[in-house]
Amino acid sequence: MTVPAHTAEWNCTRCGTTNRKLVSTRITRVNDRCTHCRAKHVVEPGPTPVRWDARLDD
Ligand SMILES: [Zn+2]
Repeated sequence: MTVPAHTAEWNCTRCGTTNRKLVSTRITRVNDRCTHCRAKHVVEPGPTPVRWDARLDD
């Protein structure tokens, strides 16, 4: 069975790098690390299905 998924884009609040993560459509919150500076973030749905909001996870 295929799990519906989509790509969430988020901007690192520390270095500004745009990150992308493939998430299940049922997920409304995910933890991810910036691919550039490795900062941990909590990422949640933003104004559009693609653009998500991120904040530092500390
Ligand atoms: Zn970063």
